Amino acid sequence: MNKPDKIILHHSATDGGTFESIKRYHMQTNGWRDIGYHYLIEQDGSLHKGRAENDTGAHCKEQRCNFTSLGICLVGNFDKYEPNQKQLDTLDKLLKDIFNRYGKLSIYTHNHFAGYKTCPGTRFPMDKVINRAHSNNTGVSEVAKSWQQQTGEKAIDSLAKKGLIANSKDWKGKDLLNENTPLWLFFEMMNRISGVR
Ligand SMILES: [Zn+2]
Repeated sequence: MNKPDKIILHHSATDGGTFESIKRYHMQTNGWRDIGYHYLIEQDGSLHKGRAENDTGAHCKEQRCNFTSLGICLVGNFDKYEPNQKQLDTLDKLLKDIFNRYGKLSIYTHNHFAGYKTCPGTRFPMDKVINRAHSNNTGVSEVAKSWQQQTGEKAIDSLAKKGLIANSKDWKGKDLLNENTPLWLFFEMMNRISGVR
């Protein structure tokens, strides 16, 4: 039985590996009944569910942490390099999801409890991860981005209908409708309306 009051972060300390390969290692080599973690994030950013959250972990034996924490592992060796952006984005979504269900649990490195290990690696950006998890900006900006995309597409359609732009398809797309494009479109429209060109 696990009663999570904290989150503990790990790295696999391997350059490669998948949920399946790490699960196999924990079961066949370590002789455990399941992968040791509750969650694992592969290098492509995919999230994999390990043990159930109310199930005792096998990721941090110090201070009874296996009975009082959720264990999250990111695949990679972060003594050598930082986790990639996809992994950090997935981790942030997962942390926010956990916060929604448990409240804002404290986030620790494995090293905090097991000082003889560097886990999750000396180059793991712990401060950034914690700050981002506690900010709501990501969610808001993601919603804003989709609004911007939709509004931008509508604006382009109506400009095309009025014959102000040709090839409206070329104007659309997530890359084109970035933050600066609507402003630029606005200037372009104002220029045309005012007859400057
Ligand atoms: Zn660890």
